Amino acid sequence: MKHCVIIGGGVIGLASAYYLAKAGHSVTVLDKGDLRDGCSYGNAGMIVPSHIIPLAQPGMMEQGLKWLLDSKSPFYIQPRLSIDLLRWGLAFFKHATTAHVQRSMPLLRDLSLLSRDLYRDLAAEAPGIQYEEKGLLLLYRSDRVGEEEIHAGEAARRMGLEVDFLSKQELPALETGVATAAIGGVHYKSDAHLYPDELMAFLKQALAGMNVRIVPNTPVTGFRFSKNTVAEVCSPGASFPADEVIVAAGSWTPELGRQLGIRMALLPGKGYSFTLKEPAQRPAIPTILCEGKVAVTPMGADLRFGGTLEITHTRDTKIRLKRLAGILGAIHTFYPGLQIEPPPKEDVWFGFRPCTASGLPVIGRSHRHANVIIAAGHGMMGLSLAPATGKLVEELVSGKATGVNIETLMPR
Ligand SMILES: Cc1cc2nc3c(=O)[nH]c(=O)nc-3n(C[C@H](O)[C@H](O)[C@H](O)COP(=O)(O)OP(=O)(O)OC[C@H]3O[C@@H](n4cnc5c(N)ncnc54)[C@H](O)[C@@H]3O)c2cc1C
Repeated sequence: MKHCVIIGGGVIGLASAYYLAKAGHSVTVLDKGDLRDGCSYGNAGMIVPSHIIPLAQPGMMEQGLKWLLDSKSPFYIQPRLSIDLLRWGLAFFKHATTAHVQRSMPLLRDLSLLSRDLYRDLAAEAPGIQYEEKGLLLLYRSDRVGEEEIHAGEAARRMGLEVDFLSKQELPALETGVATAAIGGVHYKSDAHLYPDELMAFLKQALAGMNVRIVPNTPVTGFRFSKNTVAEVCSPGASFPADEVIVAAGSWTPELGRQLGIRMALLPGKGYSFTLKEPAQRPAIPTILCEGKVAVTPMGADLRFGGTLEITHTRDTKIRLKRLAGILGAIHTFYPGLQIEPPPKEDVWFGFRPCTASGLPVIGRSHRHANVIIAAGHGMMGLSLAPATGKLVEELVSGKATGVNIETLMPR
């Protein structure tokens, strides 16, 4: 049995704590905040084996540059002179290749399917998380985007995923909740969804029951090293001795990584969401409105919309209303009959997706310090990949062979 200190109480940190505690390790989770409203709460709740193509892919640079010229587009880069931004951009460019996509697809598929299976087990324990397997519907409005989505769907089929291609006429049989103006859709049947806020509540409660110590309002500011290990994790008021240190600090991981001699091309990708409580009408199937990159998720009786990716820094808490208008515009275009009023600014949630330049998470042991594990950089898929990541972290700590080969995800 080892004593593990986890830095970060988002979904990755708590899922790691869950599997570590289940395996008999003692666990302390430290978080600089109050564990109530980070990126792991207001997200779209989608569990996405469909997302086998990483964000760094051919054509993405060109598409990103076009989007930058449109203030309502789903993508934005906070302009600034920053060496981190420059490094991230160059690394993204280097990764946006067919070879990178080909290498990443089987790995993302395996991680996602492992996670989905683990979510099935969690849902049996915790019906309150509202886990459902209805798949994910990608709707498109233009022939060009339709072609791209069908192409991606065919690649997913070749990877063994179950995918249906739907014409405009076939859509109402699947989407029974609202009428859509889409010209076609791709239905990934292997996907699932849940209510993230409920998942986080369940994890905290389950961890309390397993004697995991969660320490809020405790920013980790440094480490005490002993030879090639970290002996203690330090915050201003206290130090925490550790046999194993797991860094799961989401978008803030590079700040801690620097102190541990690990350089990561990771920047926050800010996104917004808003949630309607028990709306009279809502889509029946979790959906992505492709042209607007808007996620639509029925969660229990509620309905959540999420979107935008603003590559920025963690002090940028501004809600850009033009981007929000872009999300609402896409909703109105795709669901002309759905009456959605712009939410008041105070009801708009935002979170920082921890986006690596490769589009892949970093999971593995540090080469520098023998007892440090990094579990971060899950970008748009942190909720989806949390159980798999937690299980892998447990396997690393317990000295077991990992269920998925994560050699390429190791921190460098
Ligand atoms: C609009 C939107 C929609 C999304 N939809 C989906 C979706 O449908 N499916 C999906 O899989 N993913 C989705 N995501 C992405 C997902 O939310 C993230 O990938 C995930 O929440 C990241 O989890 P994390 O635990 O790595 O980071 P976080 O949730 O950010 O947690 C990191 C924690 O570390 C703490 N911390 C940081 N630094 C320190 C320090 N020095 N000391 C102590 N604590 C520290 C922070 O306070 C924070 O609580 C979405 C994101 C957004 C913004």
